[in-house]
Amino acid sequence: MKTRVRARIHGRVQGVGFRPTVYRYATHLGLAGYVCNGPHGVTLEVEGEDLNVGLFFTRLTGAPPPQASIENIEKQVLGTKGYERFEVIESEPDGELAMHITPDLALCDDCARELRDPRNRRYGYAFTNCTNCGPRFTIIRDLPYDRANTSMAGFAMCPPCDHEYHNPHDRRFHAQPDACPKCGPQLQLMVTGGTSELSQPLQKTEELLRRGRIVAIKSLGGFHLACDALSREAVARLRHRKQRPHKSFAVMFRDLVAVRKYCQVNEAEEAELLSSAHPIVVLKSKSPALQPTIAPDSNTIGAFLPYTPLHWLLLEKFDALVMTSANLAEEPIASEDSELPAVFDAVLTHNRPIVHKCDDSVVRVINGQRQFFRRARGFAPNAIRFAPDSAAILAVGGELKNTFCLARAGNAFLSQHIGDLKDFKTYNHFAAEIAEWRRLMRVEPTVVAHDLHPAYLSTRFAKEFVASTKIGVQHHHAHIASVMAEHDLHDFVIGVALDGTGSGTDGTVWGGEVLVANRADFERVAHFKQYALPGGDKAVEEPWRMATSMLAAEELIQPNRRTEPIFKMIEAQFNSPLTSSAGRLFDAVAAILGLGDVVSYEAQAAIRLEAVADATVEAKYPFEIAFHQQPWILNFGAMLRQIMTDKRAGVPVSEISAKFHNTIAGAIVQTCRFIRGQRNLNTVALSGGVFQNELLLRRLVESLQRNYFKVYTNTRVPPNDGGLALGQAAVAAARTAACA
Ligand code: ZN
Ligand code: ZN
Ligand code: FE
Repeated sequence: MKTRVRARIHGRVQGVGFRPTVYRYATHLGLAGYVCNGPHGVTLEVEGEDLNVGLFFTRLTGAPPPQASIENIEKQVLGTKGYERFEVIESEPDGELAMHITPDLALCDDCARELRDPRNRRYGYAFTNCTNCGPRFTIIRDLPYDRANTSMAGFAMCPPCDHEYHNPHDRRFHAQPDACPKCGPQLQLMVTGGTSELSQPLQKTEELLRRGRIVAIKSLGGFHLACDALSREAVARLRHRKQRPHKSFAVMFRDLVAVRKYCQVNEAEEAELLSSAHPIVVLKSKSPALQPTIAPDSNTIGAFLPYTPLHWLLLEKFDALVMTSANLAEEPIASEDSELPAVFDAVLTHNRPIVHKCDDSVVRVINGQRQFFRRARGFAPNAIRFAPDSAAILAVGGELKNTFCLARAGNAFLSQHIGDLKDFKTYNHFAAEIAEWRRLMRVEPTVVAHDLHPAYLSTRFAKEFVASTKIGVQHHHAHIASVMAEHDLHDFVIGVALDGTGSGTDGTVWGGEVLVANRADFERVAHFKQYALPGGDKAVEEPWRMATSMLAAEELIQPNRRTEPIFKMIEAQFNSPLTSSAGRLFDAVAAILGLGDVVSYEAQAAIRLEAVADATVEAKYPFEIAFHQQPWILNFGAMLRQIMTDKRAGVPVSEISAKFHNTIAGAIVQTCRFIRGQRNLNTVALSGGVFQNELLLRRLVESLQRNYFKVYTNTRVPPNDGGLALGQAAVAAARTAACA
């Protein structure tokens, strides 16, 4: 019996070698028909023997191309048409678009082999790619994903490339960025104060790096500033020029062997390093040579492997290069020569334009689970499954570490890391990317979700945005909802949100919150005791102010010359808002222990506090939970008193820090147990930037699980404000669904 089946395939099926695979399976089974890219994904028809048509779909779903992910297949059985052969036809740009854009993919093994093969025509070519690897999101101007809609449009393919591109049996069949040294992008080296060098740019770059120079290198989503990671002088020079005295730098290692030489790596971490995204993976350091210069505040190193052919070629000559985003402070990553900060000795650039700026992603593995610090290259704009009947939603996110989120029926698309909106250039990038994403994904938002903080620039943007419905979402509810969205949780959970600051519903600054929440709503059941934040943002940059505030409130210190103004400020309630922030408590304890009166980057004091902790210490300090108040108060006053006593008695900082972490975890577990007793809830969701503290997270998860709680954390978006937009979108979807 002959049959004809038409199928529409949804999911990540473009730019991943899907059509050649379909072609191979169909022709192998003697089927006729066609396959093409459509606005929704891929459309195909197969005609032939019943059995073979069935086999075709079994194979396609059982062994799709490695980078593809099939979301669903709509099949339609039709009368036979008498196709004579199987064809791959060009894309049809029409109809409603519901397609997925593929993130950038790290260089594949086949291409890496060609790169090193002197007989191959792509030997040493820095822009080698194929359907399994190469740039995607960062070169897309429009959909469907065809060369004409990418920044490769200006490069006409030479005959051998054109042949590969049109040959369904070739690895480069319809590889949109296909190129070779004859027809593709070219490198150019420009030495500051010198002339541009067209010949042997790679070799000259290597010489410069060898001599301890700083070279700006154009990569996939922007420029890196590179220097020899093993040269103390080079790294010191980079720190000085970038005005970045302490914050860690990412290090690109030649290969896994080199990573293992300097860091401890387990199997799950290796899998992350080698995944198609090739993110920066935060690893335990074992290198006294690298640690003090690369990451002086911690005992970890952010490591990654070469992910473009250009990186491969450069790292052949080095064990390790510092590769840090080329930008100043909070500005967006530079993606054009003209945007580079003047801190380099030379620029290694090329003529393939970057359409979307995209930083490197940063992850860590805890108990075999991925945690994001920053979600960008290699992950954005992957879809996250979402409320199937939701309206078109734009969630604008927070103000620091901003990302935004576009959601429509079935899928949420979280943007790449945008950054601190208070920087003017970053804010412009935010507004421009929202416009671009709306156009690319054909989403016209009718609902806009935003934070409750009226002064956040993202909130102001939302207020001005033309849409029928605006929904304000409380900051910590959004954090918890991001976990619920990731794990498809719909019932009430106990939500523990610990972070720096977020606007509360009562006009105070929240940050140490235990909620009972579902997606639409929440109740604040308990929070950390409130203290004055003397000087507002100034108290964040200068943890000694917070320490003074807390110790003064607990009557553990008297004013002295330095702290007198702080005492007065608090007494007069001048610029000293009340906060229940957990992040500020970590700052204050770090300052008390002499780990940083003033910080040079966000969370520096807390990072140092975690780094010194002796994880073998199990003991806790006393704490109180005031149940007679509504909400309950988690009071750590007794702990602060004991910390002061221990410090005076010369107890090691490593022990005090560990006991502090244990105390916070202990108080949270106790609170969750009381909530369980009252409300019969057994599921706990943890989110907020403080959970980037690995020691606290491990302690808390272990202890909750010992108490038979089911615990969920963020694994697909960051627990910090980089994941906020997903939570905002989830809350908005739940609220609008409830009204409909
Ligand atoms: Zn490849
Ligand atoms: Zn070519
Ligand atoms: Fe937050």
